[in-house]
Amino acid sequence: MSARLLEGKLLAADIKAGIKSGVESLRARYNVSPKLVSIQVGENPASAVYIRSQKKNAEGLGIEYRLERLDEGSPRQALIEAIDKLNKDRTVNGIMVQMPLPPQIEAGFISRYISPLKDIEAMHPQNMGEIVFGNAKVLPCTAAACMELLNSIDSLDLYGKEAVIVGHSEIVGKPLALLLLNKFVTTTVCHIATGERGSLPEFVKKAEILIVAVGRAGLIKGEWIKEGAIVIDVGINRVDGRLIGDVEFEKAQERASYITPVPGGVGPLTVAMLMKNLVEAFKLQQQLYT
Ligand code: NAP
Repeated sequence: MSARLLEGKLLAADIKAGIKSGVESLRARYNVSPKLVSIQVGENPASAVYIRSQKKNAEGLGIEYRLERLDEGSPRQALIEAIDKLNKDRTVNGIMVQMPLPPQIEAGFISRYISPLKDIEAMHPQNMGEIVFGNAKVLPCTAAACMELLNSIDSLDLYGKEAVIVGHSEIVGKPLALLLLNKFVTTTVCHIATGERGSLPEFVKKAEILIVAVGRAGLIKGEWIKEGAIVIDVGINRVDGRLIGDVEFEKAQERASYITPVPGGVGPLTVAMLMKNLVEAFKLQQQLYT
């Protein structure tokens, strides 16, 4: 068997076309474009690529994009004040803070200062909590991207399937586990302790759906993949100047039914999900203000 590629790039193009026409009708109705403001503290080169991509994607969809910069040495309070100003600005519909932040600011706490209505990364505890109730209006982008990829497989009925997620981060593994549970997928979450106990192969081998978000090249061996499994590789690792995922791609492709390439799999969809959240936030705010 050679797995079919789940190409996020193609799916993202379809989703973005839908967002673009949605933005045009919103502009026709409200006479204003949705606006996203991103805050960067310092000048970490790792953020520069994402910022360029966000700006290009936003502007290509008719979304206004502005970057606000704070000095590298800014205290936490300066970032909180900048967020608060944007929370109060009715012309701003979405706010995001670029990661990584300098060491004096703990990243985990910052999302709670963004108004839940403008939290387009869906990391505010209120938006996270809504996922538990199956009631979320915006979803954490990478977790949502994984769900879009699964939903793009016509023949797949998620009900009762057995999924394994490797990685329990706040931005990917944890919200994804809830999204899968909400679809009645029997979901196992593996993490560092699973790896340390040596049980990772055992869990991976049982997965009908395997989603890996760790950030360790080749962590998941091709021979662990269950015949016919669906494999979503979120990991991005730079090895010898090349981007690769967490799964041994070639060997896994021989056993899986579907697999995401890296790059070109989850990544392009993540930014599409961000823009989708922004449009949703815009609509919620218009309902509230008008
Ligand atoms: P993270 O916050 O570092 O989380 C990694 C997770 O993997 C943690 O839960 C960690 O457990 C777990 N882990 C570490 N070593 C393990 C092992 N040997 N066995 C099992 N689990 C292990 O990373 P993240 O932000 O979720 O990102 C993960 C990867 O996805 C990175 O490569 C990142 O670049 C990529 N990513 C891609 C996109 C995209 O759009 N394609 C978006 C976001 C992230 P502990 O916390 O307990 O150590």
